[in-house]
Amino acid sequence: MSKTLFEKIIAREIPAAIVYEDDSVLAFRDINPQAPTHVLIVPKKAIPRISEAKTADQQLLGHLLLKAAEVADKLGLTPSGYRLVINNGADGGETVEHLHIHILGGRHMAWPPG
Ligand code: 5GP
Repeated sequence: MSKTLFEKIIAREIPAAIVYEDDSVLAFRDINPQAPTHVLIVPKKAIPRISEAKTADQQLLGHLLLKAAEVADKLGLTPSGYRLVINNGADGGETVEHLHIHILGGRHMAWPPG
């Protein structure tokens, strides 16, 4: 199967501004930021979307979520707050078929989302 866009970033075939990496996740700045800070954190395993994650992915998903908070903190977002977003499927606004959490901060986020 062909690599997802984010697998190409993980493999350094496409450049990205990487802010965190470990054995199982990578975080990098979004190419089209929707907030002063907009970072994507992805599992290196190409789970297409959260609705397709399996029980076997439980540890990886927990790690991904904890690292999202850690990266947000490292980027200085904890005191003022931030938003984590997962878009799932067409109505969710998903455009890249490789699970990712958006880390958005540096401005106030409206609710409900658009
Ligand atoms: P989604 O809409 O699937 O939740 O989010 C996909 C995100 O990937 C979008 O925010 C989009 O700007 C970002 N994106 C798309 N292509 C690239 C790329 O080549 N590099 C980076 N860093 N981000 C990308």
